[in-house]
Amino acid sequence: MTAGGHGFDGVERRGLMFVLSSPSGAGKTTLSRLLMERTPGLTMSVSVTTRPMRPGEVEGRDYLFVDKSKFEQMAKRNELLEWATVFDHRYGTPRAPVEAALSTGQDVLFDIDWQGTQQLREKARADVVSVFILPPSAADLEKRLHTRAQDSDAVIRGRMNRATHELSHWAEYDYIVINHDIDEAFAEVQSILKAERLKRERRAGLTTFVRELQRQLQK
Ligand code: 5GP
Repeated sequence: MTAGGHGFDGVERRGLMFVLSSPSGAGKTTLSRLLMERTPGLTMSVSVTTRPMRPGEVEGRDYLFVDKSKFEQMAKRNELLEWATVFDHRYGTPRAPVEAALSTGQDVLFDIDWQGTQQLREKARADVVSVFILPPSAADLEKRLHTRAQDSDAVIRGRMNRATHELSHWAEYDYIVINHDIDEAFAEVQSILKAERLKRERRAGLTTFVRELQRQLQK
């Protein structure tokens, strides 16, 4: 999956798929929001899910909330780029908006779990940059899940249990950020994206750019 857009310096480049994963409560949602607010040229992939909407969530911004039969229909029609079952609910990435964004040279941000990341990597290894966010401690993770106050105690317990399993996939990611401090973690995630955008292999237009430079120098 490649895209032909222009970078901010005018050099043609392929869009990249920037994946953030973490156990729930490690700060990934806040980091995604900050990235979207402060990074030009980035589109958020809005997933479909069968889980119920939480207080404060907005249809179409946080998720597209669908029932199980609609989800299965989308999966069957190959309308999902990847999908997985998390906490007994289905989550998936609609394919069309991702392809549309990449084809206009936008980068796409994904907040998906390790199962989805594996599927994206299988489909488009060269275009996927993955970051795993770790909480500084289990106590910190639990505190954040409680402060968020979006889930019942039973759900929070389930998320803590699942965190152990999710953590076991950390080594499959390109970058690891430990979220001691949200501003620091954001700066780290942002620098990863900035550096990855400059990678030679993604910048298809560099050959032409350098050739033109050489032509000018030889004048
Ligand atoms: P939550 O219910 O807290 O919003 O999300 C639960 C988990 O599902 C998170 O780890 C989140 O990253 C993951 N998730 C959200 N959307 C998708 C998706 O489209 N695909 C996959 N594979 N995981 C997703």
